[in-house]
Amino acid sequence: MFDKSAAAYKEALKYIPGGVDSPVRAFKSVGGTPVFIDRGEGAYLYDIDGNRYIDFVQSWGPLIFGHADKKSLDAVFSQAKKGLSFGAPTLLETDLAREIVELFESVDKIRFVNSGTEAVMSAIRLARGFTGRDDIVKFEGCYHGHSDSLLVSAGSGAATFGNPSSPGVPKDFTKHTLLARYNDIESVKRCFEASDGIACVIIEPIAGNMGLVPSDEEFLKELRSICDEHGTLLIFDEVMSGFRASLKGAQGIYDVVPDMVTLGKVIGGGMPVGAFGGKEEIMSMLSPEGPVYQAGTLSGNPVAMAVGLSVVKRLKSDPSIYEELERRAKRLTSGFKDIANGLGIPLQTEVRGSMFGFFFNEREVKNFDDAKRSDLELFAKFHQKMMGKGVYFACSQFEAGFICTPLTLELVDETLQKIEEGLKEVKNG
Ligand SMILES: *Cc1c(COP(=O)(O)O)cnc(C)c1O
Repeated sequence: MFDKSAAAYKEALKYIPGGVDSPVRAFKSVGGTPVFIDRGEGAYLYDIDGNRYIDFVQSWGPLIFGHADKKSLDAVFSQAKKGLSFGAPTLLETDLAREIVELFESVDKIRFVNSGTEAVMSAIRLARGFTGRDDIVKFEGCYHGHSDSLLVSAGSGAATFGNPSSPGVPKDFTKHTLLARYNDIESVKRCFEASDGIACVIIEPIAGNMGLVPSDEEFLKELRSICDEHGTLLIFDEVMSGFRASLKGAQGIYDVVPDMVTLGKVIGGGMPVGAFGGKEEIMSMLSPEGPVYQAGTLSGNPVAMAVGLSVVKRLKSDPSIYEELERRAKRLTSGFKDIANGLGIPLQTEVRGSMFGFFFNEREVKNFDDAKRSDLELFAKFHQKMMGKGVYFACSQFEAGFICTPLTLELVDETLQKIEEGLKEVKNG
């Protein structure tokens, strides 16, 4: 039933490293091989063998209105007819910038780029240019794209200067990146003690890249005050949580205002987009207004801006979407928990707006170390079972899940039935 995908994967392996253009797609951590997608429709994904899946990945977050959403497609088609790219300003960029600036207290101005990686890389350069400092702090388990200085892993533990987590990244490039532990303010303080000057602290305020692990409000508040004390910029990486956890991302949930924010995923509605924004005094340091250089041939691409504008406007005009999606996410996680507990399987769950997460873990997950103590073997077996039953969950324990508007309560209930079958089968070997 996966014959065509298996053959396609074999063929792809000949020409593309690992057969994929982004590593997580290779299903390595669940021990399977990827299915190749033919098309999507609403909450459903169809592979090239004709299998149908209820999709809880939604392209890793961007598709809040689901696959092949009619209004998004209309926005794309009508703009595409006028031309795909101009490399010159369009009204669309100002319109989307205005919509976002109106929403985020932390954002006076914003610049569009082509990916989340680029957004974060640029935001950090700007933070360094603005403060005149080199060191930055990031948290273990948070992902901010694949730029050199952010590909770091802990050396002997948290609060150390990072080591490159990938060959090809010179140690010199990561020696300015300090690592702290998520939800642990003492580890942040140690970073500040170890450094002569920290340009910025970057955090996923609602982490979605170690599974879903929201930060504690008190922790974020203390982070804010430590940054203020030291003249350090606080950057919220909301590439995932922006327009997902709430209309304003984490900033609609926590009473903490960062200095800069990075966005992506939903604001492109499925097209490649990233953005970084912040206070006027910071953003004015950016070229051509200021000396910090940043550029892009396809940045603010009109087709991407058109679909982003359509998505953001719809979300703004009906913020109750988030309550509804959260209701469905909670029904899914609480049902899942009941099923697991009934079978004697420990499960931790979280929900923030349209984002959800689950860990096969006995203890509450507060940081990456906790997340890593989950039962990864069980997850792999579970994932495989669910694929066979037509439910597409992210192929790693360390990823968040996403509910889109076409994913109805009925589909949630159907999924719960399949989860029950799947978990029972896994348990009975
Ligand atoms: C996805 C993601 C990125 C990277 O975005 P790309 O578009 O994949 O480059 C950065 N930060 C966070 C929090 C993300 O979830």
